Amino acid sequence: MSWLRPLQFPAVIFLIFWTLAFVLWRKTGNPFFIFDMGYIGTSLGVGIGLYQLLPRHKRPVARRLAQFLVGVYMVGFLGLIVLQNMQLEGLLFYLFTGIFSGAIIHYSIAKLFGPLIFGRGFCGWACWTAMIIDLLPYDRSGGWIPGPWRWLRYAHFLLSVALVAALVFFFAYRPQHWTPLWWLLAGNLFYYAAAIPMAIVLKDNRAFCKYLCPVAVLMRLGSRFSLLKMNGVSERCDSCMACVNVPDGHLHSRLREGRPAGAFDGMHPVQHLCQRVPDVGTSGLMGTRCRLARKIAPPFG
Ligand code: SF4
Repeated sequence: MSWLRPLQFPAVIFLIFWTLAFVLWRKTGNPFFIFDMGYIGTSLGVGIGLYQLLPRHKRPVARRLAQFLVGVYMVGFLGLIVLQNMQLEGLLFYLFTGIFSGAIIHYSIAKLFGPLIFGRGFCGWACWTAMIIDLLPYDRSGGWIPGPWRWLRYAHFLLSVALVAALVFFFAYRPQHWTPLWWLLAGNLFYYAAAIPMAIVLKDNRAFCKYLCPVAVLMRLGSRFSLLKMNGVSERCDSCMACVNVPDGHLHSRLREGRPAGAFDGMHPVQHLCQRVPDVGTSGLMGTRCRLARKIAPPFG
């Protein structure tokens, strides 16, 4: 039954979401959570399961399938039909006006507490902004631009907080009726209008994620402690040097020294490694391990 082993990790993800679905349903009495969490967990389970089973060169297809299944549901169904604004400004409006909503649950699971377990998994597998920019041809990033650019996302985050706080507390503004929809459309249009030109100009699909996305600010709080973060196992490094070509800059030294190999571009460096170096499975990749589930094959190898 060794062929079943790669499916352990997607099965765990599937079960976590279905467990959450039943707990939220029982706690709130709202059966919508069964559909909502069940759909997301099933989409991720299918995407990650396919990722594990497909040959390495076809794996990006499985990841993009999961991105589209979850992303279109979040924006198309929850946003346009249920009128839940899952953009950062939507969350802030709900928080500042004291309204409990699906956006609060979404941010708690995907962006605040979830990253303590699965790091920046949302960025790689479920983000509706990334599902579009990942279609662009610049998936081989040249690394980070030196200078203060990485602070832009903090400025963007503070600007969003200040804008919503000013509207709610100084102007007594409340999004009502169709206004959450306009906020959702305007927010998404701004993200795409910034992310696509940035990707083209900087020749890096994930330039927006690196320099301008305010959501990354929240996720970085938990993801640095992520249980599923992979660490280098220095004694297993056979100096194949495959990892020196990954544009993280420090991945090689991190793996050699047994330090965590943090995510960048919304993907784990080892995912980049897998996509770029066909025979890495026999060398550098073996030198990593998952803190939480060493016996469970995570979707990186
Ligand atoms: S950094 Fe922002 S835009 Fe990029 S994948 Fe993550 S949440 Fe989406």
